[in-house]
Amino acid sequence: MVFVVDVDRRPLDPCHPARARRLLTQGKAAVWWCYPFTLVLKRAVPDAKPQPLRVNLDPESRTTGLAVVHDATGQVVWAGELTHRGHHVKARLDQRRACRHGQRQRHTRYRPQRFENRCRPEGWLPPALESRVSNVLTWVTRLRRYTPIGAISQELVRFDTQLLEKPDISGVKYQQGELAGYEVREYLLEKCARKCAYCGATDRPLQVEHIVPNARGGSNRVSNLTLACEPCNTAKGTQIADEFGYPGVQAHARRPLKDAAAVNASRWALLHRLSAIALPVEVGTGGRTKWNRTQRGLAKAHWIDAACVGVSTPEPLHIAGVQPLHIMATGRHSRQMCRTNAFGFPAKAPKTVSVVAGMRTGDIVRAVVPPPSSKAGVYLGRLAVRAIGSCNITSSAGTVQGIHIRYCRPLHRGDGYTYQKGEAALSPHA
Ligand SMILES: [Zn+2]
Repeated sequence: MVFVVDVDRRPLDPCHPARARRLLTQGKAAVWWCYPFTLVLKRAVPDAKPQPLRVNLDPESRTTGLAVVHDATGQVVWAGELTHRGHHVKARLDQRRACRHGQRQRHTRYRPQRFENRCRPEGWLPPALESRVSNVLTWVTRLRRYTPIGAISQELVRFDTQLLEKPDISGVKYQQGELAGYEVREYLLEKCARKCAYCGATDRPLQVEHIVPNARGGSNRVSNLTLACEPCNTAKGTQIADEFGYPGVQAHARRPLKDAAAVNASRWALLHRLSAIALPVEVGTGGRTKWNRTQRGLAKAHWIDAACVGVSTPEPLHIAGVQPLHIMATGRHSRQMCRTNAFGFPAKAPKTVSVVAGMRTGDIVRAVVPPPSSKAGVYLGRLAVRAIGSCNITSSAGTVQGIHIRYCRPLHRGDGYTYQKGEAALSPHA
């Protein structure tokens, strides 16, 4: 579906791509934003009553799934997969620290160590986590600008500890088909670090296994369950874990899982910041997400997981034809005034102009180079400006050098993200 806003930039109901094309060809609308694709109508719609949609979030450490769902019809209106740069942020900070440390040791361009004049403000997160939380908040804010959002659903924890504690539903018989079984499985996966408790295998399907088998009087409680691969489960048979040669397994299962391991600091931080937006926020568990997805017979993908978050997931979820927008966080600029080599010495010329002919590095542009040139053709991609005007355009097909800035027309200003829809979105149409 295509997002639509009216002339006053108020979000309206999203429309079908065919209708969007008609609006564009009839001159009734213009493209307002490329990613996500949004039209702006050329007239006001004063009595419009757009139906509120729900934005669903499944935050993970590398990729966050995003989905905009119409609760009443079960239609997934829009989907995206947001790739974070948390690990990159950490690597760059480690590099900077090593550089400064080296300079101090050698007494070159000495920068005194500063630690006693620092304090961390309320709600401080490590930079790598902060970057992830901010990315998700940015996208929630954007989606609210382009489409009528009335509620938010977020996956908060992996499993529901309350569901685990009720004795009548903690049984292993629930592992197929019932919600509590998914919560039990998520709990065990977290507890056993997704490994077989006996041989430590990670790359094979794991079965829920009784430490003291039912036949020997073992219960179905979570404290008697662990995960094992099929060969280990078969080999163990009706033996107790001690007899099978693994006395530590029982002790490990009895120990309660620490809260810190079960929940994720950045998810809680995200929840606190989402709560500050004046919208109802619903939270779900990972077990519920997986159960919703399996019940509806859907494949595993970040954006489908997002659409399945929480109790509010519509019974029939329509995902046919939905192509997720792949969003990758890249950051905007470097604050470093001069690039250094591994030893902290200046390696390149100092930073020069970043704006050339009104465009800057990171803008997505369309360049039409006329025929006499050897570079003749149409290019669509990400711009890297050069002060001399001869620029580079990078797309998924590679980098083309020496395209003059006068042939470029900006489609989408650099906003710290790169985008890809399917495979063809950023390739040059030569
Ligand atoms: Zn095993």
